[in-house]
Amino acid sequence: MARVVVVGGGFGGLASAARLAKLGHTVTLVEARDRLGGALGYVEQDGFRWDAGPAETLLPAVIRDFFRKSGRPAEKEIDLVPLEPVGRHRFEDGSVLDLPGGSRAAQIDALDGGLGPGAGQAWAAYVDDLAGVWEVLRREWFERPWSPEHASKEGKALLDSRLTLHKAMQRTFRDERLRLLATYRTRFEGHEPRNVPAWVGLWSYVEQNFGSWTLPGGMGQLADVLADRLATRGVTVLTSTPASDLVLSGGRAVGVTVTHDGAPVTLDADQVVVAIDPRRLPALAGLVARTMPVIPPVVSHLGLVGDVPDLPHEVVLHGDPMLVVRTGGVAPEGMHAWTVLGRGRLAEDIVTALARAGIKVRDQVEVRVDRSPKELVQEWNGSPGGVLWQGRGTLAHRLGTRTPVEGVLMAGAHTTPGAGLPSVGLSAALVAQVIGPA
Ligand SMILES: Cc1cc2nc3c(=O)[nH]c(=O)nc-3n(C[C@H](O)[C@H](O)[C@H](O)COP(=O)(O)OP(=O)(O)OC[C@H]3O[C@@H](n4cnc5c(N)ncnc54)[C@H](O)[C@@H]3O)c2cc1C
Repeated sequence: MARVVVVGGGFGGLASAARLAKLGHTVTLVEARDRLGGALGYVEQDGFRWDAGPAETLLPAVIRDFFRKSGRPAEKEIDLVPLEPVGRHRFEDGSVLDLPGGSRAAQIDALDGGLGPGAGQAWAAYVDDLAGVWEVLRREWFERPWSPEHASKEGKALLDSRLTLHKAMQRTFRDERLRLLATYRTRFEGHEPRNVPAWVGLWSYVEQNFGSWTLPGGMGQLADVLADRLATRGVTVLTSTPASDLVLSGGRAVGVTVTHDGAPVTLDADQVVVAIDPRRLPALAGLVARTMPVIPPVVSHLGLVGDVPDLPHEVVLHGDPMLVVRTGGVAPEGMHAWTVLGRGRLAEDIVTALARAGIKVRDQVEVRVDRSPKELVQEWNGSPGGVLWQGRGTLAHRLGTRTPVEGVLMAGAHTTPGAGLPSVGLSAALVAQVIGPA
């Protein structure tokens, strides 16, 4: 049995702590804030409640697997429901696409109907090619700690490839709207497709095959359920307890220095799981000096009264800026709770930009909570978006599950396989694989 200290109580830290406790280890989790969840959580005001960060997830199997491996099946604790459509896309030429999830045939029909005959087949051919990419990387990268010695030729070739997502789209599609469709997730997450490897496009395959899912009432509930799971599994949780550094002895980690009740304290550890940006811990910062964090989007939570357009859960308004409207917040009777997220050149107020893009709700805004990227990073003590893609070299510059410091493992958005709930959930499964049962 190992004494494990998990640093950071976002989805990555919570999922790691619960899995390791279930494997029989003695686990302590330290979180700088007074609540758990990190970006996973709510913003509340005047009876409105919005998801602060994630509002949906691809690959629900990751969440289901987490629940199964840490105690009770997901069905007993949460109500994951598929989104249909997974998203509405509005392009600058006025065309509109309601993209279904979980079905190739339905996507072909929707694309032909929304973007014109032929668009469906062109899209399906692109997504079909990603099936092989997903199969290789799922086995070697997403579900097992990456190791070049055990990797297949295909796996190595994919991760070494110089082909960028941007270049792949130029080659694959003549229709600019299909290029935008294939790159919007990457751009929404804050990356420039010229700096992102083409294989990252595999999320389009995942979306087509497994759909996009949410929890009615908000993804934020997941943070509360995970906090309960930690209590059930006997994890010691110390909130309002920021970690300031690792304690090293003979080159290996033997503890974590934290501030608890205003005083510095050292927590002894056999293994440390770092589920925060490692640049925040001096012992690790030098190892990731060449990385940059992703800047979160501009976020505006809106409480709306009166008649508003009837929109699906997520609407992507393509252009510069790119705006994403999420409509799944909880509002008082007869009202609506939307979140608008902005990326790109946002030179005017985001609600004005939204009106310019065709969704006019300025006169319906009753409550408004604006959150700048800087405020979000301050509140979450780092960026939940993980490491910015700066070309394929980024993989070598960020830390993987195993780190060069003995006794230190990485989980969360800043490590392999990346940001977003599916990848962050998988990072916790990788940590549990490496540490293994007590
Ligand atoms: C606006 C927005 C919308 C998003 N929407 C989606 C979505 O719809 N679907 C999706 O899959 N993903 C989405 N994401 C991405 C997703 O939220 C993140 O990738 C994921 O939640 C990151 O989890 P994490 O545990 O790695 O980090 P975080 O959630 O950032 O948690 C890190 C935690 O560590 C704590 N911490 C930091 N430093 C210290 C320290 N020194 N000591 C102790 N604790 C510390 C922080 O306080 C925080 O609680 C979104 C992100 C944003 C910003």
